[in-house]
Amino acid sequence: MNNILIHIPHSSYVIPDEYKDLFYLVDNELLQEQIKMSDSYTDELFDVEGIQKLIFPISRLVCDVERFRNEEDEEMSKQGMWVCYTKTSNCKPLKRVNNEHKLEILQKYYDKHHLNFEKQVSQMLKQGQCLIIDSHSFSSKPLPYELHAQTFRPDICVGTDNFHTPYKITNYFYNAFSDFGYKVGINNPFCGTIVPLKFYRKNKNVNSVMLEINRSLYMDEDKGKKNKNFARIKRNIEQVVSLCPFLT
Ligand SMILES: [Zn+2]
Repeated sequence: MNNILIHIPHSSYVIPDEYKDLFYLVDNELLQEQIKMSDSYTDELFDVEGIQKLIFPISRLVCDVERFRNEEDEEMSKQGMWVCYTKTSNCKPLKRVNNEHKLEILQKYYDKHHLNFEKQVSQMLKQGQCLIIDSHSFSSKPLPYELHAQTFRPDICVGTDNFHTPYKITNYFYNAFSDFGYKVGINNPFCGTIVPLKFYRKNKNVNSVMLEINRSLYMDEDKGKKNKNFARIKRNIEQVVSLCPFLT
């Protein structure tokens, strides 16, 4: 085991049967919403040989593990996008969720994932330090739900946290992707990066950085299919991650 963990929270399209009835959207509308909201193919893009991954296996439309567990602490709650989304990317009704559903989804999926996450990070910490690479993609055009939408959409966004992302890590990823010719934004259009709550703002040995890839680089955003550049983007990500000076 090395000391890097690739966290992939939003790649899955899986909606467990028991939650399908909760959705107001019918088949094609639901698929369109999944294409808009999922970080499609990030499980493949960030599949770097020899580096462990933690992939959340359920669609974010059922459970978003990147949100704060407490509904009031989560900025996106006002957009109907706390852990259990009730609104679409278009700010329209997505599904009905009652308190029973919320509790069940928290316990069955959210808590389980975060416990695994915490365990994997604890395991890596036995080597001293570790790095979490929180791996996402984003729509090339701002979607109506976004709170801090900006018109400039870089090719790659590097998200950082003042406590958990040392300058040398931000710098490495910024330069490595820039050297391949990508336009890189820092905390633009999305900011921050995930750290298990147990270590959040407490343990400096837990380093974390978020990498977000502009979907237009690797897929047709309307049809949801990979484009011809997919293999190149994947290769570049692999090169950048596997040459990371942090890797033991
Ligand atoms: Zn994401």
